[in-house]
Amino acid sequence: MSHTKAYAAYDAETPLKDFDLERREPGPHDVQIEILYCGVCHSDVHQVKNEWGNSIFPMVPGHEIVGRVTAVGNAVTKFKEGDLAGVGCLVDSCRECENCKDGQEQYCKNGWTGTYNGFERDGKTPTYGGYSKQIVTTEDFVLKISDKLDLKAIAPLLCAGITTFSPLRHWKVGKGHKVGVLGLGGLGHMAVKFAASFGAEVTMLSHSPSKEADAKRLGAHRFALTSNEETIKSLGNYFDFIIDTVSAPHDYNVYLGMLNTNGVMICVGVPPEPAQVVGFNLIFQRRSIAGSLIGGIAETQEMLDYCAEHNIVSDVEMIDMKDINEAYERMLKGDVKYRFVIDLATL
Ligand code: NAP
Ligand code: ZN
Ligand code: ZN
Repeated sequence: MSHTKAYAAYDAETPLKDFDLERREPGPHDVQIEILYCGVCHSDVHQVKNEWGNSIFPMVPGHEIVGRVTAVGNAVTKFKEGDLAGVGCLVDSCRECENCKDGQEQYCKNGWTGTYNGFERDGKTPTYGGYSKQIVTTEDFVLKISDKLDLKAIAPLLCAGITTFSPLRHWKVGKGHKVGVLGLGGLGHMAVKFAASFGAEVTMLSHSPSKEADAKRLGAHRFALTSNEETIKSLGNYFDFIIDTVSAPHDYNVYLGMLNTNGVMICVGVPPEPAQVVGFNLIFQRRSIAGSLIGGIAETQEMLDYCAEHNIVSDVEMIDMKDINEAYERMLKGDVKYRFVIDLATL
């Protein structure tokens, strides 16, 4: 076992603080990674505060991990010491069900293994995430990272990137489509970048007037303030797709009304409370509501390679490990441009 410094939530009420954990020695198929940067996802906040009711404490959050390989098991073929490597939201799955065999491990029928707030396949060893100095992960769940892009700005691609890339690809969003992105945070800013890069007409739907210029700089063709009733009215029956990235409870009906015939509202945000949907908003114009969960390992690699080719990274604000609690407070106010990333050298 190797002793590893980390930061943990000890319960749902108190601030995160120092924590010591033991990582396993790399087995034959394992890759040991020195973590250099880790993005801060709103899912970290939801789970640290036990807003989804599934939290296991102590919890070491973090599933947007990039770093350098420090050791590999003797059966590892994809990585060698010194390589850049990434770990996202998944560190294992059953590998046998139809979805695992199809490369969609995030929809594993037997339950995938989360990078944190979960248990290894033995059902009892807790998994600890990237707010730590080091991680050991089976090579099939480790991603290759390009050295062409800014490493710290790649970290958020491992969750915010793939979570928005995957549904855009699934619904074949591109030229000729009108896409609304609801919420300009970590996921939202990646959704804007990808949807614009795929050729869609992108409208930023935000409740923060101060984000207009940034939305346009990120690639949105226009900006609509969701608190402005006139604007909302003018967007009736307008979009082919809306990607909803909002983390807080909000009225789905407002946005369903903006969908054109056969339009799909793709929910990726997970507010802690259930939403009410008026049936007429689905029946009229044959609209749908759908969800999408992160993405499989092969698709995550495809996304990372796409980003390297098209020079796409996240817009990041660097923080020291000790400032994580303050960063959570700022995220709750929608005050982040547009992803906090922890420099693990500060731990
Ligand atoms: P984030 O950076 O905090 O962004 C959320 C955005 O939602 C904010 O920037 C804000 O945008 C908007 N917002 C926040 N509070 C609001 C409120 N009270 N009313 C209206 N809008 C509000 O969060 P994130 O990391 O992008 O994550 C977003 C959600 O996706 C979270 O629920 C997270 O758990 C979930 N998630 C899901 C998956 C998946 O696989 N489906 C993966 C990762 C994360 P504006 O200021 O522009 O309005
Ligand atoms: Zn996440
Ligand atoms: Zn499976």
